[in-house]
Amino acid sequence: MAFYMMLHLDDDELSSCVACGLCLPHCPTFRATGEEALSPRGRIDAMRGVQWRDAPADEEFVSFMETCVQCRGCEPACPSGVPFGRLMEGTREALAGDGRITPWWQRRGLAMLGRHRTLLAGSTALALLQRVRLVPKRLGLPRLPIRRGPAVTPTTGHAAGADETEVWMFTGCVMDAWMRPTHRSTVEVLEAMGATIRVPGRGGACCGALHTHAGLTDDARRLAERVIASMPGDAHIVVNSAGCGAALKDYGHLVGTDEAAAFSARVVDVHAWVAERLDRLPPPKRHLGPVMVQDPCHLRHVQRDLVSVRQVLAHVCDPVDLADDGLCCGAGGAYSMLQPELAGEIRARKIGVIEAVSGHSGAAVVASANPGCAMHLAAAGLDVRHPMDLVAASIR
Ligand code: SF4
Ligand code: SF4
Repeated sequence: MAFYMMLHLDDDELSSCVACGLCLPHCPTFRATGEEALSPRGRIDAMRGVQWRDAPADEEFVSFMETCVQCRGCEPACPSGVPFGRLMEGTREALAGDGRITPWWQRRGLAMLGRHRTLLAGSTALALLQRVRLVPKRLGLPRLPIRRGPAVTPTTGHAAGADETEVWMFTGCVMDAWMRPTHRSTVEVLEAMGATIRVPGRGGACCGALHTHAGLTDDARRLAERVIASMPGDAHIVVNSAGCGAALKDYGHLVGTDEAAAFSARVVDVHAWVAERLDRLPPPKRHLGPVMVQDPCHLRHVQRDLVSVRQVLAHVCDPVDLADDGLCCGAGGAYSMLQPELAGEIRARKIGVIEAVSGHSGAAVVASANPGCAMHLAAAGLDVRHPMDLVAASIR
């Protein structure tokens, strides 16, 4: 059955690819399969086919789009500045609007992310089901916590305002449900540096990144508006999840208002915030030795920050590079659950690199600043820690 549809992509953006192929080695799905159709250039050609040449948006086209990890490793490699992420998001928005991707069960799951109490209860139920082996292994979930400990609370005694040591800490949805100890480590580090913590008000839990990935742009925009309203004022908004940080920094584009652009300008990855104030970080009580650094795509390729995590970690350990140009690990938000086979192949390549680097450096721990990557790699048996957990353990 042939489907003809409009993608509504920007023609100038779509035509900016000159088909040079320089992005191909940076694309995890091309590296895993060797198929041109699963490369950035191949996917752009398929988009052009549907938008310009009346090609059908058939099952094959949908699979080319659904198998993209949305890692955006192709963007910094592209000499023509093709905004691939935007083209892919636009394509997915059109496909989701037509009901071709993101089935009802996925939409239900995503809707839960914006209702934090429901998410926490659901997460605990899932953890219990895991313990009695009723959660299929192929979902690739790590061992989820039954108890997550206390939530982050605001530092008492100050009011949020222009003082640069006052920061909002974005705690997110899944990260707060599954990795809350990392939030407590982050608070420990920030407060040790003299920061006053504020936490988002009602509605500020979910950044909408996974909704954007799934093509549910209107839902993502609604969540963005709630997040913006939950953290008023001028203080920095620090984020310890690379994926959430990238989403918050894109609100100016997503929501399209001056207020949203001003909000995005206040967002800073927690490592960048700490790296700018390293003189305020207490000295380590314990040096942690060599630690491998995994660059989350949404920090390295999207936020274009390659140095902050290393600068911060250098305070407490010897950071070791993976020397693979930041190739994606295959986590991709919900990608590892939706495309488990390809995600597993991509991860296997990453693990090969990690094992080789571990062998010659002696490092046994991997530092990852993104919960999705950390859980995806940990599910394969690696010892993965968030940089803030490492720093807190060292200065404690
Ligand atoms: S976003 Fe990642 S997976 Fe998708 S085409 Fe670009 S490099 Fe490949
Ligand atoms: S996306 Fe950029 S790097 Fe890739 S083929 Fe097109 S112009 Fe070349």
